[in-house]
Amino acid sequence: MVTKGSIEDCNTKFAQGGIAAAIGANDSTELHFRDTITAGDGLCDQEAVHILVDEASDRIADLVNFGVPFDTLEGEIDLTLEAAHSLPRILHAGGDATGEHIELTLSKRVREARIKVLENHLATDIIKDDAGAQGLRVLNCETGGMVEFGCRFLIMATGGIGRLFSFTTNPEIATGDGIALAFKAGAEVMDMEFFQFHPTTLSLSGVTAFLISEAVRGEGGILRNAEGHRFMPEYIPEAELAQRDIVARSILYEMEKTGEEKVFLDITHLPSRITTARFPQIYRFCLENGIDITREWIPVTPAAHYMIGGIRVNSWGETNIPGLFAVGEAACTGVHGANRLASNSLLEVLVFGKRIIAKTSCNDDTTGFYSLGVNYVRYWYEPEVKISGFQTLDISQLQKLLWDEAGIIRSREGLTKAANILDAWGRSLKPPENRKTYELANLILNGSLMVKAALLREESRGAHFRSDFPNRVPGWQKHIVMAKR
Ligand SMILES: Cc1cc2nc3c(=O)[nH]c(=O)nc-3n(C[C@H](O)[C@H](O)[C@H](O)COP(=O)(O)OP(=O)(O)OC[C@H]3O[C@@H](n4cnc5c(N)ncnc54)[C@H](O)[C@@H]3O)c2cc1C
Repeated sequence: MVTKGSIEDCNTKFAQGGIAAAIGANDSTELHFRDTITAGDGLCDQEAVHILVDEASDRIADLVNFGVPFDTLEGEIDLTLEAAHSLPRILHAGGDATGEHIELTLSKRVREARIKVLENHLATDIIKDDAGAQGLRVLNCETGGMVEFGCRFLIMATGGIGRLFSFTTNPEIATGDGIALAFKAGAEVMDMEFFQFHPTTLSLSGVTAFLISEAVRGEGGILRNAEGHRFMPEYIPEAELAQRDIVARSILYEMEKTGEEKVFLDITHLPSRITTARFPQIYRFCLENGIDITREWIPVTPAAHYMIGGIRVNSWGETNIPGLFAVGEAACTGVHGANRLASNSLLEVLVFGKRIIAKTSCNDDTTGFYSLGVNYVRYWYEPEVKISGFQTLDISQLQKLLWDEAGIIRSREGLTKAANILDAWGRSLKPPENRKTYELANLILNGSLMVKAALLREESRGAHFRSDFPNRVPGWQKHIVMAKR
């Protein structure tokens, strides 16, 4: 295993809400399937979703066997509700510390199994020939030296791209390196225009965006504007439990109306012992920053959260390059369609990760399916990331550009501006030489792919909202697949 920071530097560690799985007495895989499809707004790959919901309980059993301490109530796994799930189905650990428990448990298992892990090693290129992926070029971030590794199978599990935006819940590692590397090697990427914004992150000046989990609204949290007015029921009957993109946009509209850069999340009606037991991390973090959430409203604002698109894979995690696999937030299996149902992403990593293990450890050369046969358009895209010039560019300029022009509400005018600026930056970038500059080049390429796809999709669907095309267009019920010519 090669990882660019320490083994615990990842998005997984920050997951709060939990993992979705239809294990409750009144639940069923059909209901989980239906909720996922509804959230996906016409673009879910139905076969992939069937796999996701059907294999969920076995993968949860794996985690329990590995030692993940899921919270229980009267001897049963405790399940909570999150937005757009039709009933409580979210397993959690340590209250709101689910990701941390998973990360700690799995990295302990990796150490126990004596799997070789190279920390501070940044993958910079996929080595490929006509037969497929042959290895990986890697920068040792401590010595500055380059190393090459050969491999039989290469699995990109490199996470998302939340660092494209000024306001984000994602840690520094989330620069989408794997997506950029795979694209440069000739892999297809899909659904790059779909990026999910989380409606509620703590908004305090000088404090980094900290996620206030969906589960807070699941437990009855109410959103109020700066004047104290509960506004969500005026936008949609599901109110605070509507899908994330709708809640995020409604918050933006309220912020515009009141002229304030935040709204408030009110959980004060819950008995404080329940709030502190259910949300210990959120309670502690807010308290350290001067807000007692058992008595005070939490100032919140939307932030970039989850990359829905990524490297296009089939149901066995295979890309179009033989030997190259992708999984997790770096991959696009099609399970999320145009919008991810909350807490389906940790599940996706587990289910499709296990399938990659099955595929690569048997000698079966048959491939899975590409069920997208009739349901996609392919664009050959040669982004202008020709590394030649010497200009220095600060990552915050890129993040501001994409937050302003390719964020929650998009338009042709803003996207065109972003595309042109990214193009110019791409052409004038210095050759990368360290982790920071490689990440910046990858962000520029990923940003270009996202903006290009967002410009092409002249409609609003799922997480992608265009103010100049505010409605869903039936003719656009298809994926955008991009590849290098
Ligand atoms: C704050 C927050 C809360 C969330 N809450 C939930 C939730 O409640 N439920 C849910 O289902 N999902 C949640 N998510 C989403 C979920 O956590 C992620 O989608 C999931 O953990 C992604 O796992 P991954 O293994 O694909 O990537 P990651 O966990 O991000 O791991 C990627 C790894 O790849 C390494 N890497 C990246 N690039 C390189 C490179 N060039 N070379 C070497 N190594 C590299 C990184 O250092 C990292 O270790 C949340 C995300 C965030 C940020």
